[in-house]
Amino acid sequence: MLKTMELLYFREGRQNKNTAGYHYWEDWRWQLANTIKTVEEIEQILNITFDEKKKKILQLTLDKFPMTITPYYLSLVDSGDYENDPVFKQAFPDVRELEISPADMVDPLAEEHDSPAPGITHRYPDRVLFHVSNSCAMYCRHCTRKRKVGDKDFMPSYDAVQEGIKYIKQHKEVRDILLSGGDPFMLPDERLIDILDQISEIQHVEVMRIGTRTPVVLPFRITKELAEKLSKYDNLWINTHFNHPKELTTEAKTAIQRLVRAGIPVGNQSVLLADVNDCPRIMKKLVQKLVQFRIRPYYIYQCDLSEGLEHFRTCIGKGIEIMESLRGHTSGFAIPTYVIDAPGGGGKIPVMPNYLISWSTNKVILRNYEGVITTYEEPCNYEHTKCDLKCDRCNLHLKLDKRDNNQVIGIEKLLCDYDETITLKPAE
Ligand SMILES: *Cc1c(COP(=O)(O)O)cnc(C)c1O
Repeated sequence: MLKTMELLYFREGRQNKNTAGYHYWEDWRWQLANTIKTVEEIEQILNITFDEKKKKILQLTLDKFPMTITPYYLSLVDSGDYENDPVFKQAFPDVRELEISPADMVDPLAEEHDSPAPGITHRYPDRVLFHVSNSCAMYCRHCTRKRKVGDKDFMPSYDAVQEGIKYIKQHKEVRDILLSGGDPFMLPDERLIDILDQISEIQHVEVMRIGTRTPVVLPFRITKELAEKLSKYDNLWINTHFNHPKELTTEAKTAIQRLVRAGIPVGNQSVLLADVNDCPRIMKKLVQKLVQFRIRPYYIYQCDLSEGLEHFRTCIGKGIEIMESLRGHTSGFAIPTYVIDAPGGGGKIPVMPNYLISWSTNKVILRNYEGVITTYEEPCNYEHTKCDLKCDRCNLHLKLDKRDNNQVIGIEKLLCDYDETITLKPAE
């Protein structure tokens, strides 16, 4: 149970730096040591009460999917209207999580199926997802890896991480490593730096990325020291996970500024969530605030088919409506790509409104965001070259190295001139 001083701190509002105890409020270790895990603590902090029946079902929900909320993230909740609060909905259990929908899957993205080594998911030709941590500062209720949350058995051991690194070393085609989890920033600095150092030493790795929600739920984790340590990697990108403009606080801004000033490009991946951000106006506000913080909106994900997420799912039409409300209506670089991560491990599939209306050999008919229908005339003399991969004959002068091999897959294979394939047949 929280001590009176901390409670007072919550009640007086987090902006009041004169409150006793403020110095440790900004200490991320203090935040982690004081995460809120029970319904009783929530009642006490928000000054609310649930009836016994509701409490019982909430407990059943927590038995299946545990709760962990940082004091900082909980302090963003408006206790006067907590039931409609987008922060509360992302952090506090909903009894509907126990409902299993016919469409639900245990591992919708087939991450375990596509795993050739511990912690590694290798789905795309040139990049891998590398789970290096199983803990998070806050357990998102909409987590796609909900099945693993809080499960100690999934905590990658030192040896498991080493095996993952070995896999990357052996696979020269892998040029992009995505550290994920859990949250890689839950590792101690030294451990994280050690992993990044080891990956940096691999010749064929060109890019490293970290996916973290700490700037949202535990911004104090981004200490000056951590940012300084990360600044030495000149190929590191960070993606974070803001879902609602309310999460873009001054604390979050400080965290992001430290990363950006360390030379790290920061992107954002949101999840489209019913009653949290399924609104064109909220999403527009979100992406506009993100770019104000110098965070580039990267993806909006359609909510996955994981168990217990049905009540968060929107129809895809909502996502398309949101994309329609962004393109043209706000800065181009504030517009993320809306994707559906294909169930069964198909990867991310972008979906968007149609802008191409029709075309002939001479003209393309397009429409813009205002509904203006326009004509683009094709060039008369564009030379339709056939590529035979002989770059020494091509006037574009690309010097291909050994790794740029000719192994094309998918639709690119059907389109290219140097492969005879004319149909793709679904296997199995
Ligand atoms: C999302 C994802 C990636 C990265 O995809 P990008 O589109 O390059 O950001 C890589 N591997 C897996 C398994 C993923 O789910």
